[in-house]
Amino acid sequence: MNIRKRPKPITLAKIKAANRRISPHFKRRNDLKKEEENRKKGYLGELQVDRYVNNYFAPTYTVLEDLCWKVNEFTTCQIDTTITTPHALFFLEVKNYTGTVTFDTNFNQLIRSDGSKEIGYRYPITQAENQKFNLHNHLVHNGYHNIPIYYFVVFSDPSTIIKVIGDPEKITDLVMHAESMPQKLMAIEEKIKLQGNNRIPHQQIGQALLRKSVEFDFDVLGEYGVSSHDILTGVSCPACGTLGMERIYGRWECKRCNHQSKNAHLYAIEDYLLLVRPWITNKEFMKFTHITSRYIATRLLQSSGLYYDKKHNRWIKDKRR
Ligand SMILES: [Zn+2]
Repeated sequence: MNIRKRPKPITLAKIKAANRRISPHFKRRNDLKKEEENRKKGYLGELQVDRYVNNYFAPTYTVLEDLCWKVNEFTTCQIDTTITTPHALFFLEVKNYTGTVTFDTNFNQLIRSDGSKEIGYRYPITQAENQKFNLHNHLVHNGYHNIPIYYFVVFSDPSTIIKVIGDPEKITDLVMHAESMPQKLMAIEEKIKLQGNNRIPHQQIGQALLRKSVEFDFDVLGEYGVSSHDILTGVSCPACGTLGMERIYGRWECKRCNHQSKNAHLYAIEDYLLLVRPWITNKEFMKFTHITSRYIATRLLQSSGLYYDKKHNRWIKDKRR
């Protein structure tokens, strides 16, 4: 059973919102655009692999998409996909790269080439080994000892060419295209089964992992040095993207393309919660949307689907916060 469906990544939503509103003077504007492209590509690759996983494994095994947990106060660990079976725990590290990727097993580096230039990346095997270590500790911590853990580095795009410098034997069982992953996983599962190893409670383990899971989020904009001063205010036009729609007779109107909208402020609220802080006060809302009437601001917030946090006089998305 698939017990955790992949959520839309918050980090991607943050970057997207920033790109809609970043000041034209912001120095790393192009880097932010690139980051959005890369994260979007990564997410699409994961969705592609999810199809194989759900098709082959969800009916009989326990599947968790995008598992993330707190290792300690400062560190979280994230795993793209985990599949627990009656004999082992498998996890996938999904990569979506175009062109050629070369695994250098001598220097533990990954080089991607698009034909004209080469870019170095973190070595996925080292990355997966670290995840395996953390996952093992996490399982032991939750009372599950001696669970065999296997991982695969999976390339979601069937046209990615995989090459090796050094010893291919070191990685051939670990690196593959998505298409061949189900067979490889089944072969290992079958092999352990034939060795007569004890079965493991895969549903229980899956549920335990789910209980401890948190949503993956970090200050991705902080990494680019984005502060709230770099974020442009105003309600953006759903038709042409221009910021600064005006509220006239109960509607938002775009001065550039004349588009009218009843609830364009809802997108502005969403951007604010992603980019500035996870709550908004009446005053902040007025400043951000350029509304001058306190009465209208309150009315719009009341019908926005947010909850009013009386204690702090502010609006929040989730009651539990
Ligand atoms: Zn417009």
